Amino acid sequence: MADREDGAAPSGRERRGSGGWDSVLETEAYDVAPGGEWRSELWRVAVTQFNRAADLLSLDADARARLLEPRRAIVANFPVRRDSGEIQSLTGYRVQHTFALGPTKGGVRYAPGVSLGECAALALWMSLKCALLGLPFGGAKGGVRCDPNRLSVGEMERVTRRFASELVPVIGPDQDIPAPDMATGEREMSWFMDTYSQHVGQPTPGVVTGKPIVLGGTAGRRAATGLGATICAEAALERLGRGVPASRVAIQGFGNVGAVIAKELYDRGATVVALCDVTGAVVNPAGMDVDAALAWVAENRFLRGFPGGAEATRDGMLETPCDILVPAALECQITAENAARLDCGLVVEAANGPTTPEADEILAARNIPIVPDLLANAGGVTVSYFEWAQDRQHYAWQAEEISARLRGHLEAAMERIAESAERHEVGWREAAQAVAIARVAEAARLRSVYP
Ligand code: NAD
Repeated sequence: MADREDGAAPSGRERRGSGGWDSVLETEAYDVAPGGEWRSELWRVAVTQFNRAADLLSLDADARARLLEPRRAIVANFPVRRDSGEIQSLTGYRVQHTFALGPTKGGVRYAPGVSLGECAALALWMSLKCALLGLPFGGAKGGVRCDPNRLSVGEMERVTRRFASELVPVIGPDQDIPAPDMATGEREMSWFMDTYSQHVGQPTPGVVTGKPIVLGGTAGRRAATGLGATICAEAALERLGRGVPASRVAIQGFGNVGAVIAKELYDRGATVVALCDVTGAVVNPAGMDVDAALAWVAENRFLRGFPGGAEATRDGMLETPCDILVPAALECQITAENAARLDCGLVVEAANGPTTPEADEILAARNIPIVPDLLANAGGVTVSYFEWAQDRQHYAWQAEEISARLRGHLEAAMERIAESAERHEVGWREAAQAVAIARVAEAARLRSVYP
């Protein structure tokens, strides 16, 4: 192939255009840079966080590349019949980040922003979360790009069953175990488990967690993520010399996770000053009746119109004066744009990736500590682990045993984070990531390279 006259190396596209199969087979003939598959804002956030902690561990470039890039991914395009009879094509993803520590584990979400890059970042965080908690899993994440608020129950079932059937070859109790995430819960996990079981010809409860108890679910899973975040908030406040009673709390997101946190903190004596969901926010500096908010949502599906306080904007509610701010909805909510205006004493990241690296720096400069997502929402996967273990033993544990073990796991992880923060002289996020990355790196090193 002739060199270009300007001396620049020919681009991949130029090489491909100029010479048949031989040039196509050269690896340099491809335009996608290493890691380019996963490119997304959330992947950028995940890689930045990872590198900050990897610097503390002095990990070399090869180790970083090996630990960062997901092991494999599935992109599935499939048709779904709408209630109207119309056929709609949807895209679903499953990213399995690493098998270094065991089978992979991670949620399934239905949301309009689901993409390969988003799932890659969330799968990486799942690996690190499991490593931080000492669970025998790697991370995975998946989802379907759709608007769940516009799907009927029948359509949700058809989406779930078709997506599950696309994943049958790569999931299983010893391979990859899905769980609930945004817009999925016990109902979707039941359909997921049934679809998988029909395909393999035997009931297989251990293929998913977050199931109803009668189908092999566990006591405590429904509330586990929110309860876990509450336990972490308590543990963090204790280290800061503060406490939950009389703390003012603002919570963004009132779903599986946010609603449980609101109730748990309210029951422990906190004053809930702001609540928010996709339809808007309600703010009341004197505090809201969380039981009334839960009853309102049970009847009206959304918070919109809840008479417990003044209406506010979704973005503005993050700036409500409070002691504990709990993002429990979406990623990238606390950014360089609004971090300087937050008026809180502690951020508890119940959502995955709610804070950008730029906002991290602003909050650190303002001495606002963050209980990072790796710990704050790890209650879900921890109780999922208990559910998976019970399914394998065909033996159900008691609710008290589950909540005591959950508390033990989270408090031990908080201890590891505090010790790492002191050793490296960093905040809790970098400290948590350093503990987790070191564990995955050790597993990968011991397993070495196949073949
Ligand atoms: P969910 O779908 O049950 O609830 C999400 C909530 O966020 C809903 O109240 C929704 O109305 C609200 N919301 C959506 N868009 C919003 C917006 N633009 N502004 C404000 N609110 C908005 O989801 P979930 O399971 O509660 O998950 C919430 C977060 O917690 C996600 O980041 C998820 O990855 C994370 N998480 C969930 C679990 C779990 O067990 N469900 C476990 C770990 C982490």
